[in-house]
Amino acid sequence: AKELGRNNYQFYTRNMNERIHEKLDLQSALRQAIANDEFTLLYQPQVDLKSERIFGVEALLRWEHPEKGTIMPGDFIPIAEETGLIVAIDEWVLRAACAQNKAWQDAGMPMLTMSVNVSGKQFLQSDWSTRVSNVLRETGLAACYLELEVSEAAIMQDIGAAIATMRALQAEGIRLAIDDFGAGYSSLTALAHYPVVRLKLDQAFVQALPGSADDSAIAREVIRLGQQFDLSVIAEGVENAAQSQFLRENDCHEMQGYHYSRPMPAAALEVLLREPFRW
Ligand code: C2E
Ligand code: CA
Ligand code: CA
Ligand code: CA
Repeated sequence: AKELGRNNYQFYTRNMNERIHEKLDLQSALRQAIANDEFTLLYQPQVDLKSERIFGVEALLRWEHPEKGTIMPGDFIPIAEETGLIVAIDEWVLRAACAQNKAWQDAGMPMLTMSVNVSGKQFLQSDWSTRVSNVLRETGLAACYLELEVSEAAIMQDIGAAIATMRALQAEGIRLAIDDFGAGYSSLTALAHYPVVRLKLDQAFVQALPGSADDSAIAREVIRLGQQFDLSVIAEGVENAAQSQFLRENDCHEMQGYHYSRPMPAAALEVLLREPFRW
């Protein structure tokens, strides 16, 4: 038993060392990534079935690693958040997304809202709203064409600080959306105090529509909350016609998901926007 214990211990430390090394490699590679311009953005259309148009896009980050290929945000955002690198990454994303939207506008494309994800860590930095204003000024994008998505869970980390940041951003004319909404962290009274314009129904509650009675109830409740507080509600992760139909029957007309379009490079989106609305 002693022998086995020691072997186990050696195995455990070796394994842990490997994991620590992998993490350190990833950290230093992440640091390089910004300098080496290895990040890129994809844009996923947000459609309004009522007005029959694409009204916005969500910018989604990809890391084009020189050896490992495309790395998805789920595989590096958590480490970027742990190490604080997320602050620089989110600012890169914000600048790139605003510059792209301004370039589209200057090219005469239909006016779109650019949605940008902001990590909780970034959102709770006291100078964040100032830095956002600076980026808008530098890129020349009008504030009303920028929408920042912050998750319900991130807001809950520090509601007071989050509301202060939201108010500062709102005062600049920037739009705010609550991402991954529906887990029920926010009380009704709190929701009344968030200066937001849109709720994003978490795709976790969209997936099993319309079969799941629980998720159907949650989706209906989020839509009702939106109506009550005069907020738009967009469903994310809509993958099929049955989900879309359920949402429309329950008065949710804004959709985002593979059923409509995958996230795509800027050039592909430009082609899509020239085509007639087909959903
Ligand atoms: P999110 O903000 O909830 O973004 C939606 C995710 O769902 C995206 O994954 C998107 O590609 C994916 N998606 C869209 N439609 C569908 C669908 O119909 N079905 C399914 N199964 N998935 C769909 P992605 O691009 O891998 O991003 C994952 C998460 O990483 C995002 O979740 C967001 O939290 C974070 N993220 C992405 N870009 C950024 C960024 O620039 N900054 C920060 N801080 N976080 C980001
Ligand atoms: Ca999002
Ligand atoms: Ca989301
Ligand atoms: Ca999510």
